[in-house]
Amino acid sequence: MEDLLLLIISSPSGAGKTTLTRELLRTFPDFTFSVSHTTRKARQTEVDGKDYHFVSRDDFQKQVDQDAFLEWAEVHGNFYGTGRSELDRARKQGKRGIFFDIDYQGARQIKAVMPQACGVFILPPSMEELERRLRGRASEDEQSIEKRFKKARLEIEHYGLFDYLVVNDDLEQAGARLRSVIYSELSTRKRMATHAEDLLRYGRLEPKS
Ligand code: ADP
Ligand code: 5GP
Repeated sequence: MEDLLLLIISSPSGAGKTTLTRELLRTFPDFTFSVSHTTRKARQTEVDGKDYHFVSRDDFQKQVDQDAFLEWAEVHGNFYGTGRSELDRARKQGKRGIFFDIDYQGARQIKAVMPQACGVFILPPSMEELERRLRGRASEDEQSIEKRFKKARLEIEHYGLFDYLVVNDDLEQAGARLRSVIYSELSTRKRMATHAEDLLRYGRLEPKS
């Protein structure tokens, strides 16, 4: 069984998943963030190797040919992919879970190979507010903002691929809901069964060697 909690967080661009994921990483320091590869240009605030691995189209294609990606997709005219090595890194670091900030196409691919992955889709409170946030972020040019906004409906139409839907109206409340999803996932019978078995066998949780 895969012990690592695989948590996919998707949303139409601008709904707030980057903001929410950053906050989750502060609450759950024993989780890590899957750093994707992308052919998109870095935004001013982004750090190579931390937010994304920024690569050329040629480099990206090479990695596709080498089957280095767990999933990959074209999103808003750029390529994005999750390296298989991200899972190994999380395991080696002894992490309890990993957050994937990926789109619905990537979520579908990960669910196909790892059905135990949990998918959360972040919804904006309204399309009007989504557009406001996209513009407020001011990290893209007008053309790119329009492309992202037009794509939002298509992304929302795929909500059926996800296990949980969280509306990001008030940031604090959305964060609380997201945390409760993670606590739920950490508390499933499947995940906790060994603890119950240890109690029955040893009268306490088995001491870690
Ligand atoms: P995404 O990663 O989904 O594209 P971001 O996290 O970059 O979205 O958020 C887009 C913009 O909206 C950012 O400027 C962010 O500060 C803002 N934002 C995020 N959540 C909220 C919220 N609940 N209320 C108001 N603004 C928000
Ligand atoms: P952005 O350019 O705003 O950072 O991301 C654009 C979209 O690409 C977002 O929906 C984001 O979730 C998605 N994305 C980021 N990394 C990956 C990835 O590795 N795979 C897939 N399929 N989508 C990704």
